[in-house]
Amino acid sequence: MHDIFNPSEEHQALREMLRKFSEKEVLEQAIEYDRDERFNMELFKAVGDLGLLGVTVPEKWGGAGLDAVAATIVHEELSAADPGFCLAFLAHSMLFANNLALNGSDAQRAKYLPKACSGELIGGMCMSEPNAGTDVLGMSTSAKEVEGGYVLNGAKIWITNGAIDDQTLGDVFLVYARMSGDDRQSLSMFIVEKGDPGFSLGQRIKDKLGMRASGTAELVFEDCFVPADRLVGERGQATLHMMRNLELERVTLAAMSLGMARKCIEVMNTYASDRNAFGKRLRDFGQIQSMIADSYADYMAGRSYVYNVAGRLSLNSHGNRLDSDGVKLYCGRMAKQVADRAIQVLGGYGYVGEYHVERLWRDARLIEIGGGTNEAHQKNMTRDMSRMSYIK
Ligand SMILES: Cc1cc2nc3c(=O)[nH]c(=O)nc-3n(C[C@H](O)[C@H](O)[C@H](O)COP(=O)(O)OP(=O)(O)OC[C@H]3O[C@@H](n4cnc5c(N)ncnc54)[C@H](O)[C@@H]3O)c2cc1C
Repeated sequence: MHDIFNPSEEHQALREMLRKFSEKEVLEQAIEYDRDERFNMELFKAVGDLGLLGVTVPEKWGGAGLDAVAATIVHEELSAADPGFCLAFLAHSMLFANNLALNGSDAQRAKYLPKACSGELIGGMCMSEPNAGTDVLGMSTSAKEVEGGYVLNGAKIWITNGAIDDQTLGDVFLVYARMSGDDRQSLSMFIVEKGDPGFSLGQRIKDKLGMRASGTAELVFEDCFVPADRLVGERGQATLHMMRNLELERVTLAAMSLGMARKCIEVMNTYASDRNAFGKRLRDFGQIQSMIADSYADYMAGRSYVYNVAGRLSLNSHGNRLDSDGVKLYCGRMAKQVADRAIQVLGGYGYVGEYHVERLWRDARLIEIGGGTNEAHQKNMTRDMSRMSYIK
């Protein structure tokens, strides 16, 4: 019988391996790293040892060569334990490694991907700016062609893996910028490395509501020179790279919501059996039943939507924007509401760290903002739907 969540034996084995790994290695460290706002480099390297830091990167470049469903499984399973860590994983493996594997030259792939897949390098992607988030094509970071390369000027903000700790930059980034003279629709993409002249950590952004186990930063480019071979693809063609990568980003962010929701349902379901009030188990009260049952049905609806879209997502083309926006719009809200119900079912115990649900509630909130806000998804979706007279 076809299993939409684990379409092949390889997917099933990947999920089983990750579920064990997450429960044993990832969940345990989550409370501490969230509290201390620290990125767990050792755990990152352990995921590299499992061969998953380049889950969608072809084997030739050190990756696992797997598909969008496999990437969805990895994000769902890691986020059931630690979404903050998983966000750092996503920025590295989807926004950096997958993007470079698709759009880079063979020389660029050979130089960066094997080290990114082993965890020797930690990467990220720089799109958002202090004055341009949703209006991403309004970015003002500029690139100017000079002898032997390009000079970048500008600032990027909210960059996941931008900082590893308070002082240390991440290793390598894909940076979107506009070349002098190019129009609003035309962006170019550059590889910028730690140590490039004029590239620095503006500030590490602390005190985040959630996703505290990932390092977020403002990065600054002041007459930052990069050699000519760091341009990725053709000049002015990176808007397409961005759109293609955003589809996978949104599906994997939705998968993160699935992991958070599932964990919350497991916790409230078990707690409702163990806890008694008025001489009955909590699960015997109708109001508790509606919170658990509604959460399960909402989660399964989101899960079916996500795996349906992931199963159709080709890594090297685009054209799934309606549903990659749709899964994130639906699942972001769903996970937040499920986490909220889990806190309610646990009462006071839900309000503190031990049972994980308060952390997951804080983490869940990011999915409605990062990788596109709910309002951006609604805008994109209705624009795409204006061309539809019926739904297939
Ligand atoms: C923890 C974290 C990690 C992140 N990681 C990365 C990363 O690795 N790389 C990266 O490039 N970016 C990253 N981001 C940035 C993220 O993608 C942006 O925050 C997001 O796209 C929203 O942009 P903004 O914050 O500038 O909000 P704005 O675009 O200023 O939006 C503010 C509000 O206005 C609304 N709004 C804006 N335009 C419209 C419109 N046309 N119609 C209706 N409403 C509108 C928005 O929906 C929102 O409610 C991260 C953000 C966070 C918080």
